[in-house]
Amino acid sequence: MSGRLEPPPRGERTYLNAARRSAELEALADGAIVDVLVIGGGVTGAGVALDAVTRGLSVALIERRDLAAGTSGFSSKLAHGGLRYLSNLQFDVAWESARERATLATATAPHLVRALPQLTIVSGRFPPPVAAAFETGIRMGDAMRALSGTSRRRLPAMRRISAAEARIWAPELSTSELRGAILSWDGLLEDDALLVIALARTAAAHGVRVLTYCEATELTGEGARVRDVLGDASFELRARHVVNATGVWADTLVDTVKLRPSKGAHLLVRAERLGYPRAMMNVGMPGHFGRFLFAIPRPDDLVLIGVTDDPFEGPIPDTPPVDREDERFLLETLSLGLQRPLDSLDVVASFAGLRPLLDSGSEATADLSRRHAVLEDPATRAITVVGGKLTTYRQMAQDAVDLIAARPGVGAGPCRTRALPVVGAQAVAGPAPAGVPARLVSRFGAEAQEIAALAAGDPELLEPLAPEVPALGVEVLAAVQREGAVSADDVLDRRSRLGLVPTWREAGAPAVEQLLASLAEVPA
Ligand SMILES: Cc1cc2nc3c(=O)[nH]c(=O)nc-3n(C[C@H](O)[C@H](O)[C@H](O)COP(=O)(O)OP(=O)(O)OC[C@H]3O[C@@H](n4cnc5c(N)ncnc54)[C@H](O)[C@@H]3O)c2cc1C
Repeated sequence: MSGRLEPPPRGERTYLNAARRSAELEALADGAIVDVLVIGGGVTGAGVALDAVTRGLSVALIERRDLAAGTSGFSSKLAHGGLRYLSNLQFDVAWESARERATLATATAPHLVRALPQLTIVSGRFPPPVAAAFETGIRMGDAMRALSGTSRRRLPAMRRISAAEARIWAPELSTSELRGAILSWDGLLEDDALLVIALARTAAAHGVRVLTYCEATELTGEGARVRDVLGDASFELRARHVVNATGVWADTLVDTVKLRPSKGAHLLVRAERLGYPRAMMNVGMPGHFGRFLFAIPRPDDLVLIGVTDDPFEGPIPDTPPVDREDERFLLETLSLGLQRPLDSLDVVASFAGLRPLLDSGSEATADLSRRHAVLEDPATRAITVVGGKLTTYRQMAQDAVDLIAARPGVGAGPCRTRALPVVGAQAVAGPAPAGVPARLVSRFGAEAQEIAALAAGDPELLEPLAPEVPALGVEVLAAVQREGAVSADDVLDRRSRLGLVPTWREAGAPAVEQLLASLAEVPA
């Protein structure tokens, strides 16, 4: 690892917006050749683009829809240490997760990672040897935390706690068979889409041309045929090397890639219904050793319940559905650990994502490895990087770019991303500066003050977009001026995340539309 890089430059080089998109699109359509074309604007593609550009390569990143519109916007939003892989004895996968969690939490995106207390319930439903096995796994996870350099100040050590203390952390826990719990700590992301956007902006600051709403329709061997979805025009984008980072869609561009997608469904319930828990609850799934459902307290007084893991057959939809069976399974299983069972009236929202798992012939998708793979297509030489986790995106990107760097004639430097902070990651200690809403600090870190200043003296822009809606007016301005949103949907669904809860979306949409209309009236 070479020396620590300076944070990305401040100012407009980090801004993604419609004017920049048009200029970059024009240059590429005119035949400019890049060293690396990255296809897919999820966490993997954004990570690859950042890795490649900081090694001195010229890079274009294209995304068929919006940044984080695929799986990366529908994860459980954990920067996790890989505990569940220990139950499958996948020590290397768990270690990679723990190490990359440490990188995210200490170097690359500390402003977006919080310490998340979690309770693993020890109840009469588990025989003592099973409870002992859980504890051993958690102790190993804690050892990996220490080895990865994550301090106890950041993620405290695990400890056994009494049933009474467990109920202080999670008041709705059922007491009937509760013998106690193990309290351990993991990482929680403020928001997954926010991480992807911060990565893409950081990549842009280093010179990556980021083009959303541009779809690769075919790999040509010398780049790709690209369709500008907004302008409905096609052109050939010329590139010396191509990385296919299209997640569950990877096999549509490269037919030698074989995937077995699995669906993960989540529900959101109000924190009030679960007594405002302060810790994530892990409830064991009957008949599945080492598999748990969880309830994660989130910012904005919601609790995220997840997650299913079922094979997904058929064409890949843009928005995977959460059906009645998903909801029933999640509510019934989590309720095994609660005093009052949840029912569908408690659910305020639901969303699902598709895991891009490699087909290894295993029976159940839950058993398929979460290892990532970097595969070279013999016909086009395109490199596909797929699998893995949001937490391990950086290592995935490094492995993909290493393969390019090893090709003859490529003058790439060493990987630099392990110590490269993303936009907003400079340390923010203590309470929000005066006049800067706490939400902006949580989401924009060191950039919060600048985002607040976009209000330019209009106090309404520092208020929620509508009653009971968490996002503020200035977030809409930031979304369009800096974060590459080109439509109200981009603002609602991938920037403010109001789209995660239908009532928020409905309440916030008129104000978002109105702000976008007023921005359109401002002369460029
Ligand atoms: C339910 C669920 C929960 C998860 N929870 C966690 C978690 O808590 N923590 C964690 O670390 N990991 C988690 N994961 C795993 C993690 O979310 C994924 O591994 C990761 O987001 C995959 O990112 P990606 O960039 O590879 O794919 P994607 O995010 O899907 O990105 C691929 C992109 O490619 C674009 N694209 C497709 N075709 C084309 C084309 N032809 N041209 C241009 N663009 C194209 C798509 O629009 C998409 O935006 C979870 C996964 C699921 C499904």
